[in-house]
Amino acid sequence: MAKPLDISIVPTPAYVLEEASLKRNLALLDRVQKESGAKIILALKGFAFWSAFPWVREVLHGATASSLHEARLAKEEMRKEVHVYSVAFTDREFPHILAIADHIVFNSFSQWRRFKPQVMEANQSSGAAGRRISCGIRVNPGHSEIETPLYDPCYANSRLGVTLEEFRPDELDGIEGLHFHAHCGNNSDTLERVVASFEKRFGEYLPKMKWVNFGGGHHITKDGYDVDRLIEVIKDFRYRHGTEVYVEPGEAVGWRTGPLVSSVVDIVRNGMDIAILDTSATAHMPDTLEMPYRPEIRGAAEPGKLGHTYRLGGLTCLAGDVIGDYSFSKPLAIGDKLVFEDMIHYTIVKNTAFNGIPLPSLCIWTENGRLRVVREFGYDDYKLRNG
Ligand SMILES: *Cc1c(COP(=O)(O)O)cnc(C)c1O
Repeated sequence: MAKPLDISIVPTPAYVLEEASLKRNLALLDRVQKESGAKIILALKGFAFWSAFPWVREVLHGATASSLHEARLAKEEMRKEVHVYSVAFTDREFPHILAIADHIVFNSFSQWRRFKPQVMEANQSSGAAGRRISCGIRVNPGHSEIETPLYDPCYANSRLGVTLEEFRPDELDGIEGLHFHAHCGNNSDTLERVVASFEKRFGEYLPKMKWVNFGGGHHITKDGYDVDRLIEVIKDFRYRHGTEVYVEPGEAVGWRTGPLVSSVVDIVRNGMDIAILDTSATAHMPDTLEMPYRPEIRGAAEPGKLGHTYRLGGLTCLAGDVIGDYSFSKPLAIGDKLVFEDMIHYTIVKNTAFNGIPLPSLCIWTENGRLRVVREFGYDDYKLRNG
């Protein structure tokens, strides 16, 4: 058993990735790969904590990027397959993408038309040094089950993926794969329905394809996720179409791999007790406001449930920088540490130094009970972005 995180030695604020929890997720993803035959790659959008990539690299096949900077990180720090999809590649970045990508997925046939000559040339020249770039098109599978429009790639008039109406069978020469991404924290029964909708629309083009990428949003490592059904859906698809299958989760890799630890800085009153923390909802855990969701705090409960209720607020001047109301069994005191659970994915990649408040440090809690502070941020990180 791995040693539980020793909160008392964590400098706050800090995100603390737990090695044992990440390895638990990777072990499950490894089983999915082995039993389904799919290749799983990490979506950097949700989890780019590269100091942990040596563990990820041992299990997953590579990483998928949505920008040149993510692609570079995949190349430099994951050093396995580099997949790149972008809503639109710019002329300026594309030559750099060409130099490092193994798979390039285009969001439209006009982008494919624009960049195809460059891809063909790179594949013919020795410049690619044995690497052959495989190209694909992202399609809109016409079905999703995501309730929040902010996260739904299939809402009416979505710009993500080619619809069947806009699909150009006459321009498939050179295209080896199809990609869809229509999930966000969904279970595998949803995948089964999305795959059925995808096949109904695009099935006739599958004999031409070498691979199909099922995108991300599969909540594989969450309790209650039907892993066996996922394995069956993939196996069945591979059997019927003979293509390789890729899956590219972000959230499922970083899911429950560690907390954000913060300290109480002050306690004020305005009709109720309000604790001010050395963190921020808007700057350090933006999805709590954007999605929105209520983060879980270790040892805390709904307001009123335990003896002492507080509103928890952040350090920025934003009036709405409030994490929520929580109750505790003991009164909070200045200096107390609060542990926000599950704060590794979609936090570090999205945080900001708004108001000049410091970015949380990045730490790793190792399996043998050692705290490694891998990065601390300072004034320069703030200054360089502002002028
Ligand atoms: C966001 C995204 C992913 C990862 O999604 P998760 O919900 O983090 O698993 C994968 N592929 C594409 C194209 C995405 O936009």
